Amino acid sequence: MSHNGRVARELSVAATSRRERRGPWRPGPFDRSVAELEELLEGEPPYRLTQLLDGLRRRSAWVTELTELPRALRDRLAEPCAPGLTPLERRSADRGATLKWVFATSDGARVETVLMAYPRRTTVCVSTQAGCAMGCPFCATGQGGFVRHLTSGEILEQVAWARRERPVTHVVMMGMGEPLANYGRTVSALRRLHQELGISARRLTVSTVGIVPGIRRLAAEDLPVNLAVSLHAANDALRDRLVPINRRWPLSALAEACAEWTARTRRRLSLEWAVIAGVNDRPSDAQELARFAHPLRAHVNLIPLNETPGFRPTAPGLAERFAALLAPLGVNATVRETRGRQIAAACGQLAGQPTG
Ligand code: SAH
Ligand code: SF4
Repeated sequence: MSHNGRVARELSVAATSRRERRGPWRPGPFDRSVAELEELLEGEPPYRLTQLLDGLRRRSAWVTELTELPRALRDRLAEPCAPGLTPLERRSADRGATLKWVFATSDGARVETVLMAYPRRTTVCVSTQAGCAMGCPFCATGQGGFVRHLTSGEILEQVAWARRERPVTHVVMMGMGEPLANYGRTVSALRRLHQELGISARRLTVSTVGIVPGIRRLAAEDLPVNLAVSLHAANDALRDRLVPINRRWPLSALAEACAEWTARTRRRLSLEWAVIAGVNDRPSDAQELARFAHPLRAHVNLIPLNETPGFRPTAPGLAERFAALLAPLGVNATVRETRGRQIAAACGQLAGQPTG
């Protein structure tokens, strides 16, 4: 079979299996409120709740691993407190510094999580939805369509799985899905990452395709998180194609919401720009980007494009050349390091590929 034929077949298998329901959804441990956990501990001394919460939240241990609990209690809690996500696959790259999981939710949807270890920080990139409805043509998740929203517990559990490997310092919502299209659960997850897992809001980043009402709402939340806006084009004709939601909230509306964000939160805004040869890497693109970024004092992250069906990866050096066009225009831009290409682990490339 030709390469393209095989890719097409794999994609259609992936699309079917991602929608497959393997049974009803059941709550994972982070989907349970403290009151529910208390109920499960009925008849036990009160310190058992502290032990259980400490195990789940601080040590990222599953209940079956909490040897300080009596055996009979562990057995009783094993099923109601079982992880909500089942790892179908765990791949590693960059000598173990990059790890990617493909998880199945309890009802059979697929989500992916990536952990990236750097010398002074460890970032986990989480999914906020299974699939995505936004349809950006270069994005593997967008190509597969929307499956469902993740719960805040499912978002937290991805971080818990990553923390079992390494202490996590930063969380970015740049995996599968559009966080602001799942607004309530995303904000709940952000608050809980801080309150329950102890990760400071300043180390949390929400990446959005540009859902204008969501940006405004988030700006009013009193949550000092970082915001990254996936711009990719700074003229409406091109952005309509690359980021279809631009037809609903065009650049003028997006710029206003971004200005409101920086004015209200006083936090630096980042703009994401996946460099696509001949499409958005020309001198005129640099000028348009500078006109958009300048008034916002935004920082630009240039992302070498990961290969997806119909899109070739950004050639080596291209993103750096585009950064060199931006520098004289007074725009601060950094080229994002590509991680885990060989294991399809880069954020934004996540799709439910068939496993094994
Ligand atoms: N939905 C949100 C967050 C998830 S996508 C958003 O769009 O911002 C995270 C980032 O990966 C976005 O900036 C997205 O544009 C980018 N991305 C998507 N597909 C990509 C690809 N093939 N190569 C590089 N970046 C990609
Ligand atoms: Fe969805 Fe973001 Fe992919 Fe666009 S880039 S389809 S918004 S996940």
